[in-house]
Amino acid sequence: MPIRTCVGCRAEREKAELIRLVHYEGQVVVDYQAKLPGRAAYVCPRRACIKEAMKRGRLARALKSEQPLECDDLPEKIAEAIKAQILALLGLAAKAGKLVSGWNSVRAAKGRLALVLIAADASENAREKFAGATQLWLTKEELGRAIGKLPRSVLGLLDERLAERIARELQRYDAVNPGDRDLLR
Ligand SMILES: [Zn+2]
Repeated sequence: MPIRTCVGCRAEREKAELIRLVHYEGQVVVDYQAKLPGRAAYVCPRRACIKEAMKRGRLARALKSEQPLECDDLPEKIAEAIKAQILALLGLAAKAGKLVSGWNSVRAAKGRLALVLIAADASENAREKFAGATQLWLTKEELGRAIGKLPRSVLGLLDERLAERIARELQRYDAVNPGDRDLLR
């Protein structure tokens, strides 16, 4: 496993644990899928590390940019990238037949469920019925759209590995959540 250093805390970690950043036309770009060419910098998916990395000139130095780099919205960009990844994984699960959605289907799959997700705007009633579900900040509309359906308040993952990947992205999102004002100071 290749090892990289976080620009924030300077810790060395496996590349896959870090978020890859590149630069393009004076902007810091989040390369979440690690596919873009060019010199890269890495940061832990943690608010403290991102905050540290945003300090004056640090990313420009790490990325060997001759011009200063714009990175004020880096926390939001990282959060967006993680959100897109979660929605993509849900879409993938649905296409592979590894996901059920809606109250009745999720209840019928009881015993086969690796992870149950509930929308931010699900009703009180739904929350009571699926008390053990993981609460999301995604809406019914976003969940439905991700799986090519009408709005859905509950989703059930039937695949252990996909459920783990999604749970990992959810943890990452929580760790970098830009809604926390502290991150932006
Ligand atoms: Zn770090």
